[in-house]
Amino acid sequence: MSTRALERIVVVGGGIAGLTACDTLRERGFDGDLVVIGSEPHAAYSRPALSKALLRLDGDLAAHELSPATHGARELRGMSATGLDIEGRTIALDDGEDLPYDGLVIASGSRARRLSDSSGELTLRGLDDARILRERLEARPDIVVLGGGVLGMEIASGAVAAGCRVTLIATSEPMSRQLGAHVAGVLTASARAQGLRIVVTSSAAVEADGARAVVRTADGSRHTADVLVSAVGDLPNTEWLTSSGLLRDGRLLADAHGRIGDGVVAAGDVTAWGPDAARTPLWTSAIEQAKTAASALLDPDAPALRFQNYFWTEQFGHSVKAVGPLPVHGSPEVLVGGGDAAPALLRWHGADGIRSVISIDHRIPIPRLRRLTDAASD
Ligand SMILES: Cc1cc2nc3c(=O)[nH]c(=O)nc-3n(C[C@H](O)[C@H](O)[C@H](O)COP(=O)(O)OP(=O)(O)OC[C@H]3O[C@@H](n4cnc5c(N)ncnc54)[C@H](O)[C@@H]3O)c2cc1C
Repeated sequence: MSTRALERIVVVGGGIAGLTACDTLRERGFDGDLVVIGSEPHAAYSRPALSKALLRLDGDLAAHELSPATHGARELRGMSATGLDIEGRTIALDDGEDLPYDGLVIASGSRARRLSDSSGELTLRGLDDARILRERLEARPDIVVLGGGVLGMEIASGAVAAGCRVTLIATSEPMSRQLGAHVAGVLTASARAQGLRIVVTSSAAVEADGARAVVRTADGSRHTADVLVSAVGDLPNTEWLTSSGLLRDGRLLADAHGRIGDGVVAAGDVTAWGPDAARTPLWTSAIEQAKTAASALLDPDAPALRFQNYFWTEQFGHSVKAVGPLPVHGSPEVLVGGGDAAPALLRWHGADGIRSVISIDHRIPIPRLRRLTDAASD
């Protein structure tokens, strides 16, 4: 770890990982020059709200807003880092300037993966995307959602609630890869009952059709709609690091403290973290990683991250919370409820003794949910 005095720390990325890193640096006593470079024009906001409250036509338009920042950093919004010189400790900016740093937090997040260049293929990653989609929903168009993950199902849920006719196209039963067959079955049964049409296909491609985009599925069918929204995963924003020497096979690998190299740490969706070198693109993981990484930047003896992932989703009137490894397989131990209907509190015992607990519409506080994964809770 660097013994160099940290007079200026630069945080690249103005999302929740960047914000949390700034707050942590201040809490841990860093009173030097703190600079945040963020390519979006907005202050940090709640991304999870974009596919939930912000897509509901009667939802709170300010649901994404976070409390104003108190870290006192100089925030360069609407500006991107385009390169990094590790030897010279400078960041190249898109206005042509080079910004020197003593310590660097990489928190540049990820972006939506797309399947075409067509402007008719919408995605949902940022606040501006959400505003566009919400505006389109107001006209109650026919919608195709491509992708049966959490985001695809949340978008489909918002569109069905808005009164749209919605087809969701997925390459496996929706939510099964994220949560496992049991909970996915509960959610998709409810979604179908509320009018969602689900097409499961072995492959799907997006093709431009004038200003619109259409989906072609494995059997050759073309699925057209007024609006196509893809929710087919995310790609880490690592391009600005290409010539820095920090990437391994294109990935940004951080250790269990978030350390990347001398005076450089990383956190959030951009990073493959810890001994598993796994990306965990989840809100609370970004927060916990950012706290750990910012502490490690200041203190060589700061502890490694110990955190069991927490995940939640809201869709088709259901609220699902999960702690522990996902997806879960096989039949659950039913702690509360009937098992295949909401509300329910379900637990799975992994072969390695690690437990996962999922609540469907059960108003259980998260600390209690966490405790149910402990053997001591028996
Ligand atoms: C619609 C939606 C709903 C979600 N819902 C949930 C949920 O219910 N539960 C859950 O756990 N997780 C959810 N997530 C995931 C969660 O929001 C992310 O894991 C979290 O926001 C990651 O934070 P981050 O700060 O690492 O990255 P980001 O939020 O992506 O922030 C990174 C920031 O860095 C900026 N940036 C990128 N490159 C550069 C550059 N070169 N220079 C300067 N700035 C740059 C980006 O523009 C962005 O503002 C959702 C995500 C989306 C998109």
